[in-house]
Amino acid sequence: MTVLPLYNVILVPETNLYIQTDSYKKMTGKDPQTQERVILVAEKQKKKREELTEDDLYPIGLAGIITEVNSNGYIVIRTKKRADITEITIFADHTIAVTANKREDLPEDEVNAEAERKRLDKLKQALVTYTARFQWGSLSRAYIAQLNSIPEVAAVMSPWLFNSSEDRYEILAEDSKNKRIDRLEKMIYENIEMSKIGNEAATAQEEDYQKIYRESALKKQIQYMQKELDDMHPENVSDVRRFEIAIEESGMNPEAEKEARKVLNRLKQEGQNSSESGSLYDYLDFVTGLSWKKEEQKNIDLDEAQKVLDEDHSGLKKVKERIIQQVAVMNFKQQQSGSILLFVGAPGTGKTSIGKSIARALGRKYVRVALGGVRDEAEIRGHRRTYIGAMPGRIMDGINKAGVSNPVMVLDEIDKLSTSYNGDPASALLEVLDPEQNNTFTDHYMNVPYDLSDVMFICTANSLDTIPGPLLNRMEVIQFQGYTPIEKKEIARDHLIPKAYEKVGIRKDQLTITDEVLETIISEYTMEGGVRGLKKRMDTLCRVAAVELQRNHKDNITVAKDQLREYLDMHPMHSNKVKKEGKSGIITGLAWTAAGGAILYIETLMTKGKGKVTVTGQLGDVMKESTQIAVSLVKALYPSKAELFEKNDIHIHFPDGSTPKDGPSAGITLVTALSSLVSDTPVTPQVAMTGEVSLNGSVNPIGGLPEKLMAAQRAGVQHVFIPEENMDDLRDVAQEVKDALTITPAREITDVLNALKIPVENPQLKNE
Ligand code: ADP
Repeated sequence: MTVLPLYNVILVPETNLYIQTDSYKKMTGKDPQTQERVILVAEKQKKKREELTEDDLYPIGLAGIITEVNSNGYIVIRTKKRADITEITIFADHTIAVTANKREDLPEDEVNAEAERKRLDKLKQALVTYTARFQWGSLSRAYIAQLNSIPEVAAVMSPWLFNSSEDRYEILAEDSKNKRIDRLEKMIYENIEMSKIGNEAATAQEEDYQKIYRESALKKQIQYMQKELDDMHPENVSDVRRFEIAIEESGMNPEAEKEARKVLNRLKQEGQNSSESGSLYDYLDFVTGLSWKKEEQKNIDLDEAQKVLDEDHSGLKKVKERIIQQVAVMNFKQQQSGSILLFVGAPGTGKTSIGKSIARALGRKYVRVALGGVRDEAEIRGHRRTYIGAMPGRIMDGINKAGVSNPVMVLDEIDKLSTSYNGDPASALLEVLDPEQNNTFTDHYMNVPYDLSDVMFICTANSLDTIPGPLLNRMEVIQFQGYTPIEKKEIARDHLIPKAYEKVGIRKDQLTITDEVLETIISEYTMEGGVRGLKKRMDTLCRVAAVELQRNHKDNITVAKDQLREYLDMHPMHSNKVKKEGKSGIITGLAWTAAGGAILYIETLMTKGKGKVTVTGQLGDVMKESTQIAVSLVKALYPSKAELFEKNDIHIHFPDGSTPKDGPSAGITLVTALSSLVSDTPVTPQVAMTGEVSLNGSVNPIGGLPEKLMAAQRAGVQHVFIPEENMDDLRDVAQEVKDALTITPAREITDVLNALKIPVENPQLKNE
């Protein structure tokens, strides 16, 4: 039997089908004959006949018989019963053979003929009203009027219907004749509505069926056209469909999926050109861009992890040890995150970059969230979507950037958060970092919970002073003390110089940086705890060398020490070196600063007056108190100078660079400076000191000893006094620093004064 494949034609039993004779010949490879039986099969998608395969044909077909071969160039096929196609063969000449069995309709009750006729009339009426106006205008009223069943109406309209081949096939596959007719009727009404929608001139007459079908017609039309477009350009599948697929595939939790679908529906309703569509689009883009899947827990080989950490960073032994411990715990507990680490230290000590290494060691994604200057709670937790320009908070934004649910997230500069009238960002962070709560962290923008419990959080800060207590309690502090000159040299050789070469594109043999030059850069052209400045100097050197190499056509340059001033285009930092000459009343102190420790000179002066004490410089309340203690103590140390104190004013100056909280640790420096002043005994600036002093003259311990001693070494100090109780802390101080300094413990202030040969009148501090 002849097989006629057809695309996008409604195949309905008991209707007339009009086909162009040429098409028939082309599709069947035969000449049409009246009375010839044919099997009509529907194609799933439009294809050239030569490309048609068995899979392109639907399994239910329709039997038909050619009733007319018309001289006007078309044939009429009367369709009969449906057929189950059991086998399809396509031959080399592209003709098709099928084996098929009759497929019967379901037995059904008789329908009411009168009601049926009314239904048909109504449908025809609706059609006639619109035929003239719309696409199917070529169908004449008279022609429509003579059709005597709903399937026939559908058959003649077939070429003008929007419906897809699936929609059409579903009708053929419907076993109930009554339902089939219902579907056809619905399909025609929907198409009428579609045409009306496309035409503003449509009358506003709302008939009962219109309401029912209008909406579904609209959706169908959009869907159909969209699908057509998508099929034509699979590369730009429409946003709505893309989001639909993305939501389905994302693995979102039920709340998130519900919200996303709600927003997607809004987007569909509003259309892509509405004012709101941009923000709806952004939302969907954001939530579908997040990873909602749990990542697999991997066991990390500790040796491998150590290797990665060692590759990326020189030194930092303790820090690396602590990180490896964390990894071991995570392995044991089968967790993707452990305690939250807080790296504290001066800028450029590698806090952020080691976070990146940790991610590499764990084989996880790395993302950095800068918190410096964040004042607004919404920057952490997101803005509610009711605001124009609402955005997700930085945490969820980071997760989105990482594209996984378990990145290593470095929260940088957590000590630079501040509070404003817009809420407290630190309290929002508390929630992020709380293992009890962060599995349902709800960003205001997303408005649905997200599980942050697999994120490994690492925070960094320069100083602990400004971190709110509750936040600090959640974290484990790891100190980055800064580097000694030898460590810096090693970092420069192993990391900074190779990177600088690479950045500029010069080879190792083209630029020679000798040890002497490197040491000079470290000691005279940088003055820092970390290596940021050093990195910049190396970059500069390479850039300048690149110019020299090209301009002078040289193969190699060796930088000489005395060229550094010119090459680096900066003055050596002599001003930060300790002075040579000492004066009475001026003593070198050591301060802990967020930048990693510094020396500072505490200056005192007496002028004629009435015993007033003036204090200038950077001061906090603590500082004021320690000056009062110091003045009283000095008065007690020098009972015979009572008149001097009465008839003179004392001026004490703390230079910039000391932090207000440094007050107490400047105690012994202050007492020594005043003692040197009143006894007129100059002290060399090469001697520095740090220690708290009490009213009875005992020296109390201080913090930040490693940073302070490193600062002393950098500045060229020779001799340092530290509180006796701090002697234990020397364990944390690099040997190189200890070798460079003479370190003397002090229990009483008189230990310091005696060692400096400052005469004291009342060494036992007896009350006079
Ligand atoms: P921080 O976050 O402490 O301010 P960074 O991590 O930004 O410091 O480090 C600044 C630069 O110094 C980076 O290029 C980093 O690679 C480099 N660096 C710091 N410490 C080391 C180290 N121990 N080994 C190698 N490079 C280091």
